[in-house]
Amino acid sequence: MTRVLTGATLIDGTGAAPVADAAVVIEGDRISAVGPRAGLGWPADAEVIDASGRTLIPGLIDAHDHLASHGYGLATRFGLDEPASTAHLRTARVLAETLAMGYTTVRDAGGLDAGFKLAVEQGLIPGPRLVLALQIISPTGGIGDRVSPSGHDCCGAYDPLLPPCVANGSDAVRDVVRTMVRAGADVIKTATTGGASSRPGHGPLDAAFSLAEMEALVTESHALGRRVMCHALGGPGLRTALAAGVDSIEHGCYLDEDATLLGQMAVQGTFFVPTLTVYVYHRESPAPHVRERAVALHAHHVASVRRALELGVPIAAGTDAGGHGHPKNALELKYLVEAGLSPMQALRAATQGAAACLGLEREIGTVEKGRLADLVLVAGNPLDDVTLLLDPARIELVVKGGAICADRRSPRPR
Ligand SMILES: [Zn+2]
Repeated sequence: MTRVLTGATLIDGTGAAPVADAAVVIEGDRISAVGPRAGLGWPADAEVIDASGRTLIPGLIDAHDHLASHGYGLATRFGLDEPASTAHLRTARVLAETLAMGYTTVRDAGGLDAGFKLAVEQGLIPGPRLVLALQIISPTGGIGDRVSPSGHDCCGAYDPLLPPCVANGSDAVRDVVRTMVRAGADVIKTATTGGASSRPGHGPLDAAFSLAEMEALVTESHALGRRVMCHALGGPGLRTALAAGVDSIEHGCYLDEDATLLGQMAVQGTFFVPTLTVYVYHRESPAPHVRERAVALHAHHVASVRRALELGVPIAAGTDAGGHGHPKNALELKYLVEAGLSPMQALRAATQGAAACLGLEREIGTVEKGRLADLVLVAGNPLDDVTLLLDPARIELVVKGGAICADRRSPRPR
């Protein structure tokens, strides 16, 4: 079946100037032609959707989400306060809502098991395309080692699709990477520092994993065709991650502290996923140590984003949603613009840039011939104000792989 969207102003995700009165021709799940409407043709029996007066953008991508997480509370994190089935259905609702806001692809940075991806692919539930990490690999005491403040290891029911993720020593690290891939991981998530919300004593500048362990992790992941996304905020652990050759630095709050690090990322082509959204939440955290860390890192984080822009480090948008609930993922675009990106740069960070970070730039992230037809029709122009993308009423149409997944257009006069 052929479907055509005509008349919209097209922002194709490549950074090219918007095209007025464009047409996008969709054959099956892919884009077969795109450009100014006047230069394109399509079969007489094609379904033509009048998109005039709107802006058409690529399907949005969140490069760092935790779709199956629903709060930082200990009982919630350890799955103690509701049945697993209730939590799974809550997650299904988040998947549906995320897609309906124009997010057609999400990289889950830990917590979502491979069954959700199958359910989406089989059409059992609506949701974005998923790229899964399953679990955060770390050494004993790292952020993947989920021990309670009382010292109890109460991870509860063992889900074989979320296999153990604590490993010490190069051989053990390789084994855990292989186990994660066996369970369905598309990407390997690790952490070489603490974070704002980690336990007291393992903060943003405290290291986890040795260089030898990280080299084993990266080598094994790459040998299995998986990229490595590394939670790293600052200090020696951040340097270890870059020296080991991870593919993306998640958070990267203190990248500005060592003048050579962002230059190294630019040369190595390492992606920077700042996840500014989560720290807005942490700055208001009820836990004093979390609040203090988030306040202390803020100026460094903004400086790191600015310097990354100057040096041409590729930036991808990610919210780190989940612990702080599931606000609208496009919040990250608002904060990226506040940090110094232009609206066009922020939009690219959530489309072409994020696609490249996931290694999917030949499939998604831009509106170009041959790409999967992931499209969002927006009432208004997000280049004038990226916060338009936070308003469900303005996300008029969401198309994923050529299929209409959300349609909020008001009925047209016949
Ligand atoms: Zn995260």
